[in-house]
Amino acid sequence: MNGQEEKTLHPQIASRQVTQHILKAFGLHASKRLGQNFLIDAGIVRGIVEAAAVEPGDKVLEIGPGIGTLTQALAEAEAEVTAVELDKKLPAVLAETLKGYANVRIVPGDILKTDIPALMGEGAFKVVANLPYYITTPILMALLEQHLPITHLVTMVQKEVAERMVARPGNKTYGALSVAVQYYTEPAIVLDVPPRSFIPAPEVDSVVIACKVRPQPAVAVQDEKLFFRVARAAFGQRRKTLANALKGGGFPKEQVQGAMERANLDPARRGETLSLQEFACLADAFSALQG
Ligand code: SAM
Repeated sequence: MNGQEEKTLHPQIASRQVTQHILKAFGLHASKRLGQNFLIDAGIVRGIVEAAAVEPGDKVLEIGPGIGTLTQALAEAEAEVTAVELDKKLPAVLAETLKGYANVRIVPGDILKTDIPALMGEGAFKVVANLPYYITTPILMALLEQHLPITHLVTMVQKEVAERMVARPGNKTYGALSVAVQYYTEPAIVLDVPPRSFIPAPEVDSVVIACKVRPQPAVAVQDEKLFFRVARAAFGQRRKTLANALKGGGFPKEQVQGAMERANLDPARRGETLSLQEFACLADAFSALQG
């Protein structure tokens, strides 16, 4: 037995055997609808906690604790954990699997309907999660757009989504999600996670992505909403020139021409080649024209 296992109040949940035992004991079946794939690899769980640089006393929000695999590791790292779980069956299970950890608070509910500032109170916090894949993007966008005092956002996501999050201009996966994530954070893929690390095994490859939230967004813009509207329109019609994509996205023709001139952008450019700085210039040019 190593030192870490001796300290653990309960057997480490992050193993095939213990996870299967818990699922059987509580008569649970992983719900596809709720995106339930339970982690069983202790090395990956440790990697997630390390990537979030969790220190004793850190406030951590976990989304979707499942049967408590990652929650247990966060509790062992002496974080103050708040875990929001949508599946109504799981809080009773977690009360057993995490019994004795005084630093864990389980909150039943939907993270997309949760008042996070009220839940987390004053001060900075970290978000650590193995996200349900069916709503990864809405969750990430909701967390980022609210300008919450999050310092690190470390999550398991589908590999293809992570590639979009870190993609640079000109890359075929560069899109509105890349612009949003890179505007608010510095994202980096830190671990590759094969399907066999979960029960049940998902049909896709996964990775752990660590996003360090920037103290200030990557570029200064006059109107954040307009900046994102411009980016969404630019990526909306990929085979078109930027000028045509913006018109297709609802920007009036005269304004498009004026804004592109003002931002010094060649009308023949395609939206997917613009850097964050160029999107910011373009959005500010629209702001100036709209008065
Ligand atoms: N953290 C556990 C693990 O690593 O084994 C479970 C991860 S599983 C991929 C995703 C979890 O998110 C499930 O427990 C699921 O019930 C929960 N979930 C799904 N949608 C949710 C939502 N909208 N709000 C909160 N939790 C949700």
